[in-house]
Amino acid sequence: MNNAHCSLCGKELEIYDILNDYSVKRERIGYGSMYDGMALNLCICSDCLDKMILLCKINPLTKAAEPVHQQGNLYH
Ligand SMILES: [Zn+2]
Repeated sequence: MNNAHCSLCGKELEIYDILNDYSVKRERIGYGSMYDGMALNLCICSDCLDKMILLCKINPLTKAAEPVHQQGNLYH
């Protein structure tokens, strides 16, 4: 049973949210943040990831590398 929840919207994470792991983890947040000295474990669902990307002023997306199984076939 899965009982991990999205830190932003609070909904229970779907299995694909967990498998893709959109989380942001830091052992310690540093100087400059009002949360300096705290640890961060931000779990987000795919819907909230999409919303966060849309909020960005600078596009954080780049083309992903091809999955290993789709790269050239060694036998040709
Ligand atoms: Zn969410």
